[in-house]
Amino acid sequence: GKKSYSFMLRTKNPSGKVPNQLYLAMDTLADQFGIGTLRLTTRQTFQLHGILKKNLKTVLSTIIKNMGSTLGACGDLNRNVLAPAAPYNSNKEYLFAQGTADNIAALLTPQSGAYYDVWVDGEKIMSAEPPEVVKAREDNSHGTNFPDSPEPIYGTQFLPRKFKVAVTVPTDNSVDVLTNDIGVVVVSDSNGEPQGFNIYVGGGMGRTHRVEATFPRLAEPLGYVPKEDILYAIKAIVVTQRENGRRDDRRYSRMKYLVDKWGIDKFRSVVEQYYGKKFEASHELPEWEFKSYLGWQEQGDGKLFCGIHIDNGRIGGIPKKTLRDIIEKYGIDVRLTPNQNIILTDIEPSWRDSIAASLAQAGLLEPEDVDPLNLTAMACPAFPLCPLAITEAERGIPGILKRVRAVLDKVGIKGDESLVIRVTGCPNGCARPYMAELGFVGDGPNSYQIWLGGTPNQTALAKCFMNKVKIQELEKVLEPLFYNWKTSRLQNESFGSFTIRMGLDKLQELVNKWD
Ligand code: SF4
Repeated sequence: GKKSYSFMLRTKNPSGKVPNQLYLAMDTLADQFGIGTLRLTTRQTFQLHGILKKNLKTVLSTIIKNMGSTLGACGDLNRNVLAPAAPYNSNKEYLFAQGTADNIAALLTPQSGAYYDVWVDGEKIMSAEPPEVVKAREDNSHGTNFPDSPEPIYGTQFLPRKFKVAVTVPTDNSVDVLTNDIGVVVVSDSNGEPQGFNIYVGGGMGRTHRVEATFPRLAEPLGYVPKEDILYAIKAIVVTQRENGRRDDRRYSRMKYLVDKWGIDKFRSVVEQYYGKKFEASHELPEWEFKSYLGWQEQGDGKLFCGIHIDNGRIGGIPKKTLRDIIEKYGIDVRLTPNQNIILTDIEPSWRDSIAASLAQAGLLEPEDVDPLNLTAMACPAFPLCPLAITEAERGIPGILKRVRAVLDKVGIKGDESLVIRVTGCPNGCARPYMAELGFVGDGPNSYQIWLGGTPNQTALAKCFMNKVKIQELEKVLEPLFYNWKTSRLQNESFGSFTIRMGLDKLQELVNKWD
């Protein structure tokens, strides 16, 4: 008989910007053709699960129609460019980071219309030329910031399926900047006027169990470029990877393996040959901070925004209906954050009370009413939605967080203390578990690797602490860890810093002798 395939579709929204009309269209499509929920991803996009083949064409054309110049990407294309979602509309650095994300997204968009053909099961079901390609051809530019932008890069089909880029401003690590193939950070003068960018290369999360040659990796500093050169520098990096990255085995195709094999100095000198210039030394930047923009804040243009925490980015039921009603009634645009939350933007101060009341009624809580564990936790979809899943993630994380909180309570750690927990159903690492203070990576039915050593601001790579920990046995591992954190921590020491200071061998000893 004929197999009935079901598809997953992902949109592409640089900086997580979602126009009003697109949000409403996605909300409707989820009901009509998906599984009745919307899912916000860790890369500021929507995923629609469970689309049947016979409906795919309708779904795609609805998205194309409703997205204006925001292009949707489907199937194998996954090149959303991250940038801080916050609509700080009078902050030059934020606006510049977001504009740069748009420009880089356009640069990575090949001109060939065929790129947007969608093939399913050997059949071409859709052919679309994206609006920005049409526009680019008409006005031959990619935005006002870079009047002399390079042409989009031909041959980007030779890039790995996942080529991840993030742009941000100093201190704001909402984008997990060091986990990207390319991380770009705005550098400004003392008046807050953007002058250029620090560039980092070679980050990536994905790995494969029992294949030692695959590993998560943090991006390293490549150097500084003046602002007018950024797209040329990005192009040079992309071309370096295209010409030298491995194509024979998907598992090693990410740029991090090339940077790792060559070392950053050789990588830099090859990129410089394409770039035609030397990189300047990276500028010294302040410490990174995790930012989530939850709650009500000023946009800086007289309007407000409201960041709403969504557990695992899954919007369904009454919250879905309520969000739709608010977004429709006020005609507001939204932003999606890399932590799977949603921001309602451009809110007139006079609308605030009514919107806040609706949100409260729908159970969409203010951040101070949510357990801080939930505010920083992430899980990938895994079962039953992801074909690569080995075990539960999204469906398992609510229970895991409750049990973690119970163990913290038991050892006497206060309820306002927290740690970053991330769970994935396989080592591919879609929810960036290798940056968590406590990472769970599915390695068997109901069992996980436990990773320790990430930090609250996502600047350190975790290490694998234990394998094949059965989910029922979680407390046996967590209680000794948390008890020792409580009794041996330095003042205000985060769980991640504590585990790094103690070292995994010592922690293993503590777990082994606990009973
Ligand atoms: Fe699927 Fe693995 Fe990604 Fe989870 S981490 S969504 S299981 S590929």
